[in-house]
Amino acid sequence: MTNPPPPTQKTSIAESRPTQNVAVLGATGSIGTATIDVLNHLQKVDPETNWNLWAASGHRNVDELYRIAQSTATKNETGCRVIFSDETCDRNALETRFSSLGCDVRFGASALVEAASEEEVDVVVASIVGRAGLESTLAAVDCGKRVALANKETLVVAGGLVRQRMSDSGARLLPVDSEHSAIWQCMEGSPCNVRKLILTASGGPFRQATRQEMESATPDDALAHPTWEMGRKISIDSATMMNKALEVIEARWLFDVPADKIEVLVHPQSIIHSLVEFEDGSILAQLSPPDMKLPIQYALTHPRRLPCPTPPLDCTRPWDLQLLPVDLERFPALSLGFEVARVGGTAGSVVNAANEVAVGLFLNGQIRFTDIVPLCQKILANHEYDAEPDLSELLKRDAWARTETEKCAGNVQ
Ligand code: NDP
Ligand code: MG
Repeated sequence: MTNPPPPTQKTSIAESRPTQNVAVLGATGSIGTATIDVLNHLQKVDPETNWNLWAASGHRNVDELYRIAQSTATKNETGCRVIFSDETCDRNALETRFSSLGCDVRFGASALVEAASEEEVDVVVASIVGRAGLESTLAAVDCGKRVALANKETLVVAGGLVRQRMSDSGARLLPVDSEHSAIWQCMEGSPCNVRKLILTASGGPFRQATRQEMESATPDDALAHPTWEMGRKISIDSATMMNKALEVIEARWLFDVPADKIEVLVHPQSIIHSLVEFEDGSILAQLSPPDMKLPIQYALTHPRRLPCPTPPLDCTRPWDLQLLPVDLERFPALSLGFEVARVGGTAGSVVNAANEVAVGLFLNGQIRFTDIVPLCQKILANHEYDAEPDLSELLKRDAWARTETEKCAGNVQ
């Protein structure tokens, strides 16, 4: 009997390593595509793990999802699962196009929940934008997955519920948001003897703008972020500083700390991603270039640190790193964020929904930039507060806030 031919080097290494199946929900977005790059990179540099893109979802960007599916099929000889969450898509056309790559094609929001719950999936990267990411992230939490969390809106809407379900299922939330990753790294995951979490904020494109300049800002002005390249919604959130407000709420739930232990400082260079002050007055900070690939990779490989595609900071040039107080008069979103982090309950779902609608209205030219935050304040003030809502109450408040925001849009001040 002749021996079978020896396996190729490539196959034997891949087969000897444990596989990590990763579902990237929101794969076509800014975080999603950066995650795909990180996975491709890890396939080359991680000797211990066989990183496998198991599922990738998109909403409307069919061509980007095709590009992702095609490159996975080329490498693996079988395609990944592909999910189109947009219920209005042309299912027949997409089925034909993607199944030719060997992909298992699924449709609708329920397919996101299915993928997040699938037994074979080890890590769910939650990178859908907005409240649309809630159900799939909750499903991953309920199934006890490791969840690399970019979708901060899940914690803003339902932070209390997520914590409760994490303790039931044993799921882990691994922060992808750069500030929260920095805090996590400074604390090594343990919140002992922490006096304060200090989130940094770039200040966005209007850091030095006057109130008048902000009143006449166009969507293009507001989308032009000075240090980060991101999706449209988070770019507008950065300009209003609602992003930092959402991050205060995210930190409150992610690290289970009260709002009065959280502070925000403006750091225009986006190099210091956040800081932690301990009881003895010592402050630790995490520094790296403004590139999301580093926090994404750390969420995937934690606690291992591997070479990252992000080039290191240039230590041959002087560093000019500023930490400045926030101007709360020009950026009222931040006070709103602290209020929501303090009161919890239904407040987060209401402010998040109002903000999502208000950002859409601004991008469509229907309201001014400076109307976004007052609209959110108004809707929050008018809502029927519930301190201990279940999921259905949170979703009811979300729907109510969306309708109210549309109604109030013409009459903000
Ligand atoms: P993008 O707008 O670039 O991408 C959003 C992703 O969500 C896309 O894949 C999009 O699909 C998908 N999507 C949009 N609407 C829906 C929907 N209704 N149902 C299901 N999927 C949908 O956003 P970002 O990547 O910038 O942000 C994603 C999340 O990560 C946000 O929560 C953001 O706050 C957070 N985050 C982002 C950072 C960044 O640097 N970008 C930094 C830290 C956090 P398609 O494109 O196919 O339509
Ligand atoms: Mg952030």
